Amino acid sequence: IDPTEGYPKVGEHFGLEERPFDLEATKVDEEHPLLLRNIYTSIDPYIRNRIRNPKRKSYIPPLKIGQVIPNLTLAEVVKSAVPEHKTGSHVIFMSGWEEYTLVPKQAMGMVQSVNNPYNLPLMTFVGALGMPSQTAYVGLRHIGQPKAGETIYVSAASGAVGQVVGQLAKSMGLYVVGSAGSDEKIAHLKEIGYDAAFNYKKESVHEALPRVCPKGIDIYFENVGGETLDAVLLNANFHARIIFCGCISDYNNPNPYSLKNYSQILTKSIKVEGFIVMNLIPFYKEEYFREMPKLIADGRLKYKYDVYTGLESIPEGFLAVLQGKNFGKALSKIADE
Ligand code: NDP
Repeated sequence: IDPTEGYPKVGEHFGLEERPFDLEATKVDEEHPLLLRNIYTSIDPYIRNRIRNPKRKSYIPPLKIGQVIPNLTLAEVVKSAVPEHKTGSHVIFMSGWEEYTLVPKQAMGMVQSVNNPYNLPLMTFVGALGMPSQTAYVGLRHIGQPKAGETIYVSAASGAVGQVVGQLAKSMGLYVVGSAGSDEKIAHLKEIGYDAAFNYKKESVHEALPRVCPKGIDIYFENVGGETLDAVLLNANFHARIIFCGCISDYNNPNPYSLKNYSQILTKSIKVEGFIVMNLIPFYKEEYFREMPKLIADGRLKYKYDVYTGLESIPEGFLAVLQGKNFGKALSKIADE
């Protein structure tokens, strides 16, 4: 089902398939050097873009019908033919929505060892330290170029990316404003340090933004797109920066939103910059893993999870993310640690 056809349905577009698998008899060798037992898999909105009509071009190839959905996963090495990944150690790999994964030799470069000097819970490596937090970090710091005293507005602020953007921005001395889709989420934003927040389902962005951003918006961390972006353009300051991270309101929209206020980009000299985290993070990985684990270990960065248990619950978790029913970072616990 292409994004232009609306939301996928759990019972119709996803299937659970049992394939014969003999753990004892499965061998690792030069062709398949690792056998992984998948424990926690991340549930991310970008997967929607991989479920599409193959004719449409994007930065990432479309999935084939019947293919196991790949996603970043924390796994235990259960058999290994290589010295760098010992049996019993943990890795991050694009295994995906399955219980066991045999890693082909061509993909070995993508296997990352888990280095855990602060003894953080294992789910942290696809959670508070995972890809969405990396997105928050590189987007805010390296695209947003934030300065103390500026106002930042973050949409989908209670989600996997948004909760980290807000806390990092606060620690840099910004005035931090967020929006989310329920009163419970708004209360949480205040608890984690947002200066102001509003429920966009109760008050329109057009009404709320002048109230919650009295000095205008210097930085907008864009997660949702659509009308929110239009309202931001009207409330943006001169030389505002828009960190274009995502536009989830259009991911299942048969009638993509048409921007009305785009001339503000010109008249206010606004900089709009999109990015894909996987292309940027290699440049900042070292500083990220130097700074972030410590913030998490010290409790200075709080992180809310929304955990779906069992392989069969992943499609439900995925739909929840697309429809705003998740509260915090969605991930699935496929197996016990
Ligand atoms: P979240 O955990 O924030 O979950 C998605 C949230 O989006 C929902 O909980 C919901 O929150 C909100 N949402 C859903 N539909 C709508 C809608 N129609 N209008 C407004 N808000 C909606 O997801 P992530 O933090 O993982 O991702 C956030 C954004 O970042 C996404 O757009 C994603 O594609 C993007 N992203 C981009 C990356 C990159 O490399 N550029 C990497 C990772 C993520 P609410 O209740 O508040 O509406």
